[in-house]
Amino acid sequence: MICVSIGRTRHKMMVAEHRALAERGAELVELRIDWLSRQPDLARLLKDRPAPCIVTCRRPQDGGRWKGSEEQRLALLRTALVSGVEYIDLEEDIAASIPRYGDTQRIVSHHDFEQTPKDIEDIHYRLCQLDPDIVKIVTMAHSPEDNMRMLKLVANAKVPTVGFCMGELGLISRVLCGKYGSPFTFATFSRDRELAPGQLSVDEMKHLYRFDEIDANTDVYGVIGDPIAHSLSPLLHNTAFHKEGINAVYLPFRIPKFDLQKSLTHYEWLGVQGYSVTIPHKEEILDHAQHVDESAQEIGAANTLYRNSESEWQATNTDYPAALATIRLGLQSSQFSSDELAGYKVLILGAGGVARAIALGLVKAGALVTVSNRTSERATELAAELGCQQISWEHRGTGFADILVNCTSVGMHPNVDETPFPESQFRENMLVFDTVYNPENTLLLKQARGRGCVTVSGIEMFIRQAALQFEQFTGRSAPLETMRETLRQSISAVKS
Ligand code: NAP
Repeated sequence: MICVSIGRTRHKMMVAEHRALAERGAELVELRIDWLSRQPDLARLLKDRPAPCIVTCRRPQDGGRWKGSEEQRLALLRTALVSGVEYIDLEEDIAASIPRYGDTQRIVSHHDFEQTPKDIEDIHYRLCQLDPDIVKIVTMAHSPEDNMRMLKLVANAKVPTVGFCMGELGLISRVLCGKYGSPFTFATFSRDRELAPGQLSVDEMKHLYRFDEIDANTDVYGVIGDPIAHSLSPLLHNTAFHKEGINAVYLPFRIPKFDLQKSLTHYEWLGVQGYSVTIPHKEEILDHAQHVDESAQEIGAANTLYRNSESEWQATNTDYPAALATIRLGLQSSQFSSDELAGYKVLILGAGGVARAIALGLVKAGALVTVSNRTSERATELAAELGCQQISWEHRGTGFADILVNCTSVGMHPNVDETPFPESQFRENMLVFDTVYNPENTLLLKQARGRGCVTVSGIEMFIRQAALQFEQFTGRSAPLETMRETLRQSISAVKS
C-alpha cells in the first residue's frame, strides 16, 4: 500500500487533494496537519473523508512545521483519536501519554533527518514497547550501508514496521521496504510537493516502480552511476518487466565514483540479479566481474553486469552490438547494396567512450573507419590503437564516407540548435547515424534528410542496448516496440 502525504497550508486545499487522491485510487493518505497555517479543524478535514487516513502533527525537531504549543498538539491528536480516524502517528516521547482508543491504529514513529544512527535496532526495540500497531522509523541515508541496515531491520521486525531512508541515496529503500514486509511506504502528491528529502511522487511509486506489486519474490535490478537521478533506464526496464509479466523491479542506485566495490558488496544482500552500468563506473566494473566478455575486454569498459548461469557476475558491453545493429538497420534501406558492414567507409565524429566502442566494433566488422575529434590528440590516440584513419576536425566534411556516425554530444538537449557536421558536406544516399537520442530528431538528422541522406536516430541504439541487457537479465526477448514508444513519449514529455 502507498500512503500519500498531503502537506498544504489551507484546509480547502488539503480536503481537495484528499478527494483528488481518492478519485485516483489512493488507499491511504497522511494529513500533515502541522502544515496548516491556521489552527487545524479536524472535524472539517475528517468529515466524509474519501479515503482512510493517518493524522500526523510534526514538530520542527521531527522535520515538521508545527508552530503551536505541545499541549495544543497533544489535544489535536486526542481529538483525532476520539473522532475514530484510521491511524494516528505518535512520536516515541508522546506515545505513552496518548493511550489506545477505539479502532484507531497507532503508528509509533522515529525520524532522524541527520543520519541513520548506529543504534536503530535499539530505537526500534523501544518503539515496539509503546503499544504500536505499526512502527515507523525513517532516517537519512549517507551510504548504501545505511539502506541495508534499515532494510534488514524491516525484514527482521516482529511488529509490522515501515522503515526506509531519506535522501537521494535512500530512494531504493523507499521502494524495496515493500519486498521486506513494510506494510506501506510514503509518497507525495507530486515531486514538486516533496515533504521529506528524496520522496517519490505517488505516480512514480505506483506506475514506475509498481510498489503495490512488489513482494518477497520480486527480483531486483538497477542502474549504477553518479549522477543517476535523470536516467531513463528505470522507465525502460520497469516498463519491459511489466509488459512481459515479470515480477521484478529496476532501481537507480546512486554510487559515487570511489565507492563502487564497497557499495556492490553491501548490495549483495539484496540479491540483485543485474545492473546497467553508467558513468563513472564503466571501466572499474570490470574488476568486480568474475567473467568479462571479449567485447568488454577489448573496449575496456562494460555497461552491463549480470548473473550468468553459474550465478557469477559477468560483465558485457551492449552499447557496441546495439550501435552496430542500429547501423545495419539504416543499411537495410534500399539505397544500400548490403547490410554487411565490411567495406563501408565510415566517418566517426568524437573520440570518447561511445566513439571508441563503436569504432572498435566497426573495425572488427571490416569497415574502413576514419575518426575525427575536436581535440585532435584523442583522435590520434584512438586511430593508432584501432589501426584506422584520422581526419582533422576542420576537414571532417571533406573526405568521402558512406556512413557518418556522430558520437559527440553536440546537438543534445538543450543545445538543439547545434550540429557537429557542416550541412553543405552531406552526400546524397549517405547513412547518417546520430547517437544523441534527446532529442530524437537532432539538427544533424534534419539537415541530413534535407540533403537526401538515410538517417537513424540514437533512440534505436538506446532501446537496443537496454533490450540486450533485458535479455541477459531475464533470458527472454525484450518488448522492443514498447520500449521505443516509452522512450519517445518520455523524451517528448520532458520537452513539452
Ligand atoms: P564522452 O566520453 O564525454 O565524449 C564526448 C565527445 O564529444 C568527445 O569526443 C568530445 O570531444 C565531443 N564533444 C563534446 N562537446 C563538443 C563540442 N562542442 N564540439 C565538438 N565535440 C564535442 O561521452 P560519450 O560517453 O562518448 O558519449 C557521447 C554521446 O553519445 C553522448 O552525448 C550521448 O548523447 C551519446 N550516447 C548515446 C547512447 C545511445 O544509446 N544512443 C548511449 C550513450 C551515449 P573532446 O574530446 O574534444 O572533448
